[in-house]
Amino acid sequence: MDKYQEALDYLECITKAFNVTNDISKLSIENLQDLIDKATPKKLTEPYFDGYEVLSGYCPICGLEQEHMNDDYCVDCGQRLDWSVE
Ligand SMILES: [Zn+2]
Repeated sequence: MDKYQEALDYLECITKAFNVTNDISKLSIENLQDLIDKATPKKLTEPYFDGYEVLSGYCPICGLEQEHMNDDYCVDCGQRLDWSVE
């Protein structure tokens, strides 16, 4: 994530410095922001424990039901998930 953020900061710096306002630079900034958002852990919607005491819940982005196995990412949309429960 830090590398994505570095790349985004650099790209924004360059586009400002050279006053680049074309669609390609805008799209690249949007794509990098998407990657940063996906790599930033987001809490599950409505976390609960299923019948086997496995922590479960729903992806906050696409709504796919998730079970806490070894996967830190939603298998559907790729969002990184935060499994902590308060
Ligand atoms: Zn998802």
